[in-house]
Amino acid sequence: MRHTPAMETALLAFMSVHEGPVGARAAARHLRDRGFDVSESTVSRLLTGLDERALTQSLGKKGRILTEEGTRVAANQQLDSQRASSFADALNLRDVHDLLDHLASRRGIEREAARAAALRARPEELTRLRAMVQTGGEARWRERLAFHKTIGDASHNKQIQAITTTLFDERLDLLERLLIMIGIKQDALIRWDQEHRDIVASISDRDADGAERLMVVHLDGMIRETEHFANSGNAHVIHTLLAEIDLA
Ligand SMILES: [Zn+2]
Repeated sequence: MRHTPAMETALLAFMSVHEGPVGARAAARHLRDRGFDVSESTVSRLLTGLDERALTQSLGKKGRILTEEGTRVAANQQLDSQRASSFADALNLRDVHDLLDHLASRRGIEREAARAAALRARPEELTRLRAMVQTGGEARWRERLAFHKTIGDASHNKQIQAITTTLFDERLDLLERLLIMIGIKQDALIRWDQEHRDIVASISDRDADGAERLMVVHLDGMIRETEHFANSGNAHVIHTLLAEIDLA
């Protein structure tokens, strides 16, 4: 049986809170309690591997303790998993209110992304953005999401990129389809496509103020149309679709 990265993370976490050395038997018992189907010999191999990577140190029969490096790795993994679960929770949109909050936070991030893209986008990114907005139509929801992703990338600001990569996670493709559906029902899709073209024109002109302003206008419009759509007796449509996204 082979061990998995999740098993290793759980073992490091266990060792970091355990007082004193941990033996293979106690480690295997802990992992089984956590739902891992694991034998003592697998855990022994895992621990030997950790020794080789200088994350653990053997104290002979007493078992093993984490090295300084092992303690650091365990703490980082803990932070990573907290961060992942808080993002997962934020992206688990349940109702109209969550959806509007999501769009408002996109407005905050994407206005800065558009501004930075106007200042920093590379020529090939400008070419790609121009190609993306040339045509419109209902079938182009993937390109519409890619448009927002590309502006995030073209910001060349690591902080913005880290957040937009998460906001435009593939799991949220369905959310974009929901927004397109709202755009169609509210007759706003043509306007949104025009706004995309205007944003690209400002970025191409290296007009940071213009790009930022137009992105705010664009997200404001999406927020307004979503509110109108929900308030015209369609909140249940949004809730049903959000539940599907959650399952996806
Ligand atoms: Zn858009």
